[in-house]
Amino acid sequence: MAKLIDGKAFAAGLRTRIAKAVSEVKAKHNLTPGLAVVLVGDDPASRVYVANKAKQTLEVGMNSWEHKLPADTSEQALLALVKKLNADSSVHGILVQMPLPQHIDAAKVLNALDPAKDVDGFHVVNVGRLSTGQEALTACTPVGCVMLAKNTLGDLTGLNAVVIGRSNIVGKPVAQLLLAENCTVTIAHSKSQDLPAITRRADLVIAAVGRPEMVKGDWLKPGATVIDVGINRIERNGKSLLVGDCDFASCEKVAGAITPVPGGVGPMTIACLLQNTLKAACAIAGFAPPHM
Ligand code: NAD
Repeated sequence: MAKLIDGKAFAAGLRTRIAKAVSEVKAKHNLTPGLAVVLVGDDPASRVYVANKAKQTLEVGMNSWEHKLPADTSEQALLALVKKLNADSSVHGILVQMPLPQHIDAAKVLNALDPAKDVDGFHVVNVGRLSTGQEALTACTPVGCVMLAKNTLGDLTGLNAVVIGRSNIVGKPVAQLLLAENCTVTIAHSKSQDLPAITRRADLVIAAVGRPEMVKGDWLKPGATVIDVGINRIERNGKSLLVGDCDFASCEKVAGAITPVPGGVGPMTIACLLQNTLKAACAIAGFAPPHM
């Protein structure tokens, strides 16, 4: 049976290290990192995410601000708020919760952020820096995936990694990070041919698809490490369940190690967001962040 990769415990440890680093920055530099989160509309899942982000930001000793705007907020009004937060020196990280209502151009809003405060790592400048090997604020879920993979496997150099999914928020940045770790990276997607044959070559599989339990045990090379990013709600036996993109029951029989859903990648996202906020605050103030 595969070893379970405990993202919840790893994320808790990372938050403890971040809290220590935050108190060091406060004591040495009289600086309190601050994160502003903007939520437009009242999507219930987004409200839960935003509340969790605020709670965990405060728990590590940072300042937290929540800007809740009605669903009919104009693009212009949202851009004006972004401009105000860009100019606010007490704010070091700005996160605009996705998805935005349809009448707002999300790319326009993301690219209006000051790249130095773009703690989600979605601004084209940060995406470009990542893909050219420069220092960047990098998307949180992908960073969390690679942390878990390295904590499980050690050095990733030379491994065959298959990323399933090519979204801008998970698939593409996780592939860039794995390339930077010297993996041989294959990006598979909805138009890829014979996906099971592709994944069977992988030492490391990162599934970011959004299709419940799609990856089966017989798609895996025995002993492979599986990082399951998917969060899918399904109904089974009259119960509402959260499942990943991998069929856990069959995959855990073949994999060497696997993340559960929930409790795998999910908790890493906010921990990496807090880490990015601390990094952004230190970079803006002009000193290196403490070791975390
Ligand atoms: P997305 O819908 O933007 O992208 C999905 C990708 O999967 C696409 O690139 C598509 O080409 C690929 N795909 C779709 N069907 C496929 C198929 N049959 N075969 C191969 N590839 C296929 O999704 P996303 O935003 O990248 O998110 C993916 C999953 O990760 C979702 O379940 C999402 O909820 C989850 N997610 C979790 C976290 C977290 O843990 N914090 C963060 C972000 C996303």
